[in-house]
Amino acid sequence: MCIFCKIVKGEIPNKTVLENDDFLCFYDINPLRKIHVLVIPKEHYESFEQVPAVLMGKMTSFIQEVSKKLNINESGYRLITNIGKDGGQEVPHLHFHLLGGQSVGSMTK
Ligand code: AMP
Repeated sequence: MCIFCKIVKGEIPNKTVLENDDFLCFYDINPLRKIHVLVIPKEHYESFEQVPAVLMGKMTSFIQEVSKKLNINESGYRLITNIGKDGGQEVPHLHFHLLGGQSVGSMTK
């Protein structure tokens, strides 16, 4: 079982921001900016390449709820998903990084 599935099952602790039946948002263990959270579907999909479009639609609404809860919906943030080897994906369970709480800077740095 992957590490994020273990988080969903409660076998590994997490600092939860928001949760519903389909998705979980929690703080990244190694934050790269003032605010750095991860949004995952509770069901396991390896990456963006596998996720059904219908679930992505629901995930969009959930991410918008998260940005409001973190109060970064107006100041802005960066939303990233890494996909596979060349995308630099380390955890093989679809996740979106939300980075904000400050100017996140150039995308390539
Ligand atoms: P990626 O390189 O896109 O696969 O990013 C994986 C992210 O998961 C990294 O930013 C890690 O810091 C984060 N991460 C790994 N394990 C945990 C954990 N147990 N709790 C919170 N974040 C984690």
